[in-house]
Amino acid sequence: MATVPRTDNLALSAIALFLDIDGTLLEIAAAPRSVSVSGELRERLRALFLAAGGALALVSGRAIADIDGLFAPLTLPAAGLHGFERRTVSGAYCRRSPPSPAALEAAREAMLHLARRHPGLFVEDKQFALALHYRGAPQLEDTVLEAMKGIAANVVEDLELQRGKMVVELRPAGTTKAEALAAFLAEAPFAGRLPIFIGDDLTDEPAFELVNSLQGISVVVSPARPSAARKRLPDVTAVQAWLAQLQADPAAALQRLAALEGASSARDDSSRVVSAAARLRSSA
Ligand SMILES: [Mg+2]
Repeated sequence: MATVPRTDNLALSAIALFLDIDGTLLEIAAAPRSVSVSGELRERLRALFLAAGGALALVSGRAIADIDGLFAPLTLPAAGLHGFERRTVSGAYCRRSPPSPAALEAAREAMLHLARRHPGLFVEDKQFALALHYRGAPQLEDTVLEAMKGIAANVVEDLELQRGKMVVELRPAGTTKAEALAAFLAEAPFAGRLPIFIGDDLTDEPAFELVNSLQGISVVVSPARPSAARKRLPDVTAVQAWLAQLQADPAAALQRLAALEGASSARDDSSRVVSAAARLRSSA
């Protein structure tokens, strides 16, 4: 068991908090549109955003318009479609160059054809990305993967395959959540702070690696899944409880996070995290 480091002076003003949504803040539902955000969670995020001086961003595979609909009337800094698009703390919107309409249309047609042939499959159109959900037919995983590889091969210039929990997605090529985090961390109020990223799925792995390289705190939400993340929370309930503690007693919550066991729990990096935080603060 790692010794618990002194993190008494780690305040909300010292961290940059990045949160995935589905499977992290919210339980994954049968369909992406059937989730909802409680008033309690929305108000907690608003309070944390304000207390952190704006250094709190949602980083999701959902489109930003979809994120805004979920959390309305709250709008937070956000990265959507796995880093393809981003809204800064000042509200400025930027995105990478979009996939060609022809590539999207070809992929959409092929995916819809597949879904019509197999009950239980569901195509989610995110405008610049397309997801095929098979939560309603998990036995079709191999079929779905093979078919999606074939579809991706035809649009490989513009779209690439992204696996997730009971979903295979074609997303704009060449963007990851890590790029979105890096862009936020180059700007105020995120710059110079200790990055913390909490996520649950394969699309979160590049961001975990980035956060590790910056001596931040990477947290995977899963009881056992192998991950580059160095800390682990078992489930959405644990994330929500931690956010509640972060609001009530930031120093204690950050101390607890730094002391958590993780995917690579053989190494104790909690003291390194704390010294990195101190370094960041002194250089800020
Ligand atoms: Mg997720």
